[in-house]
Amino acid sequence: MAADPVLRLEAVSKRFPGGVVGLDEVDLTIATGEFLSLLGPSGCGKTTTLRVIAGFEQPTGGRVLLDGRDVTALRPYDRPVNTVFQDYALFPHMDVAENVGFGLTLRRLPAADMRRRIAAALELVGLADKIGARVAALSGGQRQRVALARAIVCEPRVLLLDEPLSALDAHLREQMQVELKRLQAELGTTFVMVTHDQTEALSISDRIAVMNRGRIEQIAGPAELYDAPATRFVAGFIGTMNVLEGRVVERRGDGLLVAAGPLMLEAQGEGPGPGEPLAVGIRPEDVLIEAEAPDTAAARLVGTVFHGRSLRLHARLADGTELTIDTPRRAASAGFAVGDTLFLSVRPGAARTLRAA
Ligand code: ATP
Repeated sequence: MAADPVLRLEAVSKRFPGGVVGLDEVDLTIATGEFLSLLGPSGCGKTTTLRVIAGFEQPTGGRVLLDGRDVTALRPYDRPVNTVFQDYALFPHMDVAENVGFGLTLRRLPAADMRRRIAAALELVGLADKIGARVAALSGGQRQRVALARAIVCEPRVLLLDEPLSALDAHLREQMQVELKRLQAELGTTFVMVTHDQTEALSISDRIAVMNRGRIEQIAGPAELYDAPATRFVAGFIGTMNVLEGRVVERRGDGLLVAAGPLMLEAQGEGPGPGEPLAVGIRPEDVLIEAEAPDTAAARLVGTVFHGRSLRLHARLADGTELTIDTPRRAASAGFAVGDTLFLSVRPGAARTLRAA
């Protein structure tokens, strides 16, 4: 990581009454100025991680360090951290300026300073002209911006965002993703965002921590996560991936030669020794449709789905394994019909070995 860490979680666990494990020894280091997303399905521990960082939740094990200082026992308001909540939690009886300035009133700043900082925060989120407006008169997107302005006006070391865009419709949501990224770059503040939306996480984050059952399964940048998912879970969660059960034939360079049904694959990544079972992942765009040849595998086309720029094909290999294949529309112009026989290969080096967890 290039910059100094601003935030560290060391073996943080959270066990709820009744024995529910919210977090299981989570280690996480976040660099200053980084945009990190916590991504995973419902119940995986994203929100609990955010609440532990904010101080709303006390871990049952481990430590939280901010700028190297142990803040585990500090109350939320004593931490240099602010949270943007999913429902924005604005005060409906206050106007925009009062909402944005709320955190500052607790700090007893001079009135002129307050006015200046409120105006600057609203400027940053593009709402300068709404400074005197009532919250009730604002649209969903504008309320979202007020919530952001209220959080950044305090100049936190880390800004926490809990599903900040989930209340917005798809179009506005995409627009706000771009704005959130711009705002973060402009401020240089560390952002930690919870989302269950992989597209959102991939398009907005410097790094993504993929969580499953209270643990981080993989933490990496968007391209690495897509190109080299480490586990079956991550492969199944990020994009579409064919996960095939195979057996190691032998080591090949940095990777492994793997037999998966009728396919012989050169897979990248670690794995067990010859003869041992393992799972490999292949993206749909890395399955190639070839002319009939000895090193191809025959498959029967069982379905086609129109995807705009590409055509998605579902094909069944001789051993019953189903493969998803994406093929450019242009290449597909010859036309495919259900029942056709296709001859398939996998782009060399495109298969990845996957760990169980
Ligand atoms: P979601 O996307 O649904 O919000 P999440 O990934 O944010 O899910 P968490 O809310 O962190 O997940 O919950 C992690 C686990 O801890 C879940 O099994 C949840 O039921 C449990 N949990 C969370 N808060 C509590 C609580 N206050 N008491 C008991 N169990 C809890």
